[in-house]
Amino acid sequence: MFQRNSPSFISFIISVFTFVITFITSFIVYGSVPYSAIVAFILAVIIGLTVYYYVTQILDKKINTIYKLINKTKAGKKEQFYINNILPRPTLDELGKDVQIWADKNAADFELLEKNEKYRKEFLQNLGHELKTPLFAMQGYIETLIDGAKNDPLVADKYLQNTANNIERLTALVKDIDIIAKLESQMMPIVKSSFVINELLEQCILDFEKNALEKNIMIQIHANALKNVKVVADKLKIKQVLDNLIENAIKYSNTNSEVKLNIESLNESTVIIEIADKGYGIAQEHLDRIFERFYRTDLARSRNIGGSGLGLSICKHIIEAHQQNIHVRSNINIGTTFRFSLSKI
Ligand code: ADP
Repeated sequence: MFQRNSPSFISFIISVFTFVITFITSFIVYGSVPYSAIVAFILAVIIGLTVYYYVTQILDKKINTIYKLINKTKAGKKEQFYINNILPRPTLDELGKDVQIWADKNAADFELLEKNEKYRKEFLQNLGHELKTPLFAMQGYIETLIDGAKNDPLVADKYLQNTANNIERLTALVKDIDIIAKLESQMMPIVKSSFVINELLEQCILDFEKNALEKNIMIQIHANALKNVKVVADKLKIKQVLDNLIENAIKYSNTNSEVKLNIESLNESTVIIEIADKGYGIAQEHLDRIFERFYRTDLARSRNIGGSGLGLSICKHIIEAHQQNIHVRSNINIGTTFRFSLSKI
């Protein structure tokens, strides 16, 4: 009949208790059952109602305070009337559940904050490291030139060239940071149009012809690739993704190798674009983290061929901003395959 621990339950118990005590006392004093029963009943009702009134008042106040805290709102007079008189009063069990939901949400928010803080610290550490390396190198070259190396044309030429390379590295890093910042703050909206993805792949092959030739790497579209596929996407940004992936495929391959581009159908509305190389590959333990900002495999570090370390992170941002996915598959010394999806018409 009553919910356990509800105000009505507590009042009922107190009423029953009052009735029994009053009845017994009255019967001992007056010796009359009907009289004792009436007195006990009246007292039990009065005490029960009084207890009920005060308990609900106190509870309502406390519950309202808790809900205000949970919802971080201040109810107006109208809402307060609605809450107090029209909405069903939440039971203590319901309140307990709501507080639990609120606590879980807060714990999740806190975890997210902690994660973001960790990301921020890592980002600053990495950024410091990335800036320090070329800056210190340039400082060394310039100081050596000033100290006399400038008088030896061969050494001067080499040191100036090295300085220029470091400036190029810094510029690329700053450009990539700028892109990431814009993508993360949604200042670079996705502007979709429809275009033939095969044509974009062919354009990329032409753009990387020189790079590929330098290492005698053949880039080509797979013979079985779908033909004339129209996709809906931000063409410039997808070009950037393809450029990053093709550049990596060349960068992380030995000479005399090959890079294959493919277009496959995933389902009626989606196609998969694949960039596969037969290069150094990525060890399994790195695969989960490869899309993180500044993450590089030891191999890339030791060979000192890495770029800004932001390329894959930019690719992931762009593909996810299209509500699509990007994946990597790789085996050391066998090669790496990146696949991402796109909407087709
Ligand atoms: P980077 O500017 O260093 O190339 P990316 O974000 O493009 O940065 O790539 C991150 C890391 O992933 C690289 O440093 C490299 O270790 C690894 N990587 C990316 N693409 C390939 C690939 N095709 N083959 C082997 N390793 C790759």
